[in-house]
Amino acid sequence: MTVERKNNINYGKHFIDDEDIRAVVEVLGSDFLTQGPKVGEFETRVSEIVGATFTASFNSATSALHCACLALGVEKNDVVWTSAISFVASANCALYCNADVDFVDIDPSTFNLSITDLSKKLKFCHDNKLKLPKVVIAVHMCGNPCDMRSLKLLSNEYNFRIIEDASHALGSKHLGEFVGNCKYSDITVFSYHPVKNITTGEGGTASTNDPILFKKLKQFSSHGIVKSQEDLRKKSEWSLYYEQQTLGFNYRMTDISAALGISQLSKLDGFISDRNVLANEYNNFFSHKNVRVQTVSDFDISAYHIYIVLLSSKSERFKLFNFLKQKDIHCSFHYPPIYSQPYYRNLAKTYMPCPNADEYADRALTIPLYPSMSLELQSKVMSAIEDYGL
Ligand SMILES: *Cc1c(COP(=O)(O)O)cnc(C)c1O
Repeated sequence: MTVERKNNINYGKHFIDDEDIRAVVEVLGSDFLTQGPKVGEFETRVSEIVGATFTASFNSATSALHCACLALGVEKNDVVWTSAISFVASANCALYCNADVDFVDIDPSTFNLSITDLSKKLKFCHDNKLKLPKVVIAVHMCGNPCDMRSLKLLSNEYNFRIIEDASHALGSKHLGEFVGNCKYSDITVFSYHPVKNITTGEGGTASTNDPILFKKLKQFSSHGIVKSQEDLRKKSEWSLYYEQQTLGFNYRMTDISAALGISQLSKLDGFISDRNVLANEYNNFFSHKNVRVQTVSDFDISAYHIYIVLLSSKSERFKLFNFLKQKDIHCSFHYPPIYSQPYYRNLAKTYMPCPNADEYADRALTIPLYPSMSLELQSKVMSAIEDYGL
């Protein structure tokens, strides 16, 4: 069996080869489609690669974020803060726990949560005796690592916990080490949706160095049930004895997905270097144009899950998007501010202001970049942009 590929140009695209297909087919012929050996193997591989002690797998990053919040004790009357510019899942996870959510503005050059705005808002809430966040969810936008050391210092000062939503950042490096080692956070979540850096179809993981958090993550992902002797409240001689000790969910990853994930992980280095080669080409190209691109620290490596440019105005973005679309080049938009979504507006809360996020939302455009994109294909995108004339 071989993989056929069409030649239309999208903003992102998964990469599946014959090895991936074989890995999945092998599981289909085995004794376990789910809850077999592949899930644990995948978790171990992720831990080894990112440098965390433990990794729990999930059927999506969204469910991993939900359980990460639960594991950190997020509940009613708590508030969770996250970046104004992210996928809605970064905020929804707090609402699932009946907590409130509020937003930190972005830094207009990194597109990440602004440490300056965060520290201003923390101080304001502290001075005015307003509720401080129990958890801050930092999003590594496009794979660009957040300034985790500064975030950690603030968390010590204001006593909040940290979740990294690293859905874009598998393979990114911060200060020389892989994102996911949880050096500056409690839990790091990755997504394996097909547009992300590797895929398991649908899937996610949560890594941590804390054995208690790890146990909670596992337990919440599987109905709140525990089975191992040391965790049981009642001792039993019967090997089939288990206990449901809390209310959990069926958020488990399947062995089919995990086998695909293991196979994909072996290609991660190649994916990240392909993405960086393409991103460098774009960076050079746009350095001569009236367009802003994302700033990545010299001490970091971005996985470049997506490549975003900021156009000079809303109308310029609209025109360029349509111009490229006519040439079969399909761009995208990541993301409108979460608080601007009708659902969030209908909650009738007042959110803290995020002027940078509002401005970003008018101008951001995600242009095509994915591992199997050839340099020839990329030149087609660049010459189309050249034809448009920026
Ligand atoms: C994709 C994404 C998610 C959700 O991932 P799923 O695996 O699709 O649930 C969460 N946060 C961010 C920033 C994402 O990009």
